Amino acid sequence: MENKKNYSNLDDIEFAVRIFPKSSVIKNIKIIHVILIFIFLSSLLFVVNKINNLKVSNILNSNKTEKDFRVLGHFPYKEVSYENLVEIQPNILVHKEMYRSLKQMKDDAEKDGIYLVFLSGYRSIKLQKEIFYSLKSIRNQIASERARVSAPPGYSEHSTGFAIDIGDAYEREADFEESFEETSAFKWLEKNAARYHFRLSFDKKQTSVDYEPWHWRYEGSIEALKIFESSNRKNF
Ligand SMILES: [Zn+2]
Repeated sequence: MENKKNYSNLDDIEFAVRIFPKSSVIKNIKIIHVILIFIFLSSLLFVVNKINNLKVSNILNSNKTEKDFRVLGHFPYKEVSYENLVEIQPNILVHKEMYRSLKQMKDDAEKDGIYLVFLSGYRSIKLQKEIFYSLKSIRNQIASERARVSAPPGYSEHSTGFAIDIGDAYEREADFEESFEETSAFKWLEKNAARYHFRLSFDKKQTSVDYEPWHWRYEGSIEALKIFESSNRKNF
């Protein structure tokens, strides 16, 4: 009560005293601001990172669960249209995109004294159907047994025009036989075929189909690579 002043006149009111915060207080406020911004940015980065990880794991999971369209170990293939085929040997048609490479490979093998013979190129789905079911029946085989040596119709690389069965002109008894791998033609192919963009489709590493040393496929064009993409990704 003693401190209470009696202001009878406005002039008696004391001027307000301005109190400025000390510089250390300002410094502390600045530090708090910096910390808050840092926490905000860290949280933002954390959330962005989480979203990205989620996206990556979704992609990985979708690859894992991607449907495998193989039937009895064979991938599905569309039939090449007739205008894309050319004859490389009497009754042997191949895709026009691989014709030049295949011809070059045969010619270069001859320069090394190796005589390649083409046994089978393009096969229509209709022909594949006859081959698969008639031989299956003649040989009294169930589908999975037959599929180890022959693709079901619609699942043969031969329907694309990019597959070729090769024999040795001097060892015809080895045609379509595993013993083809002992011929000089096979040994030459093993060493040189990749130069011409050919690879074995059913080598000893894969287990779904029997080893076929005579069956090669062309991977020297985008069209061919697209066709064999699933096989290259999953099979080996
Ligand atoms: Zn073949």
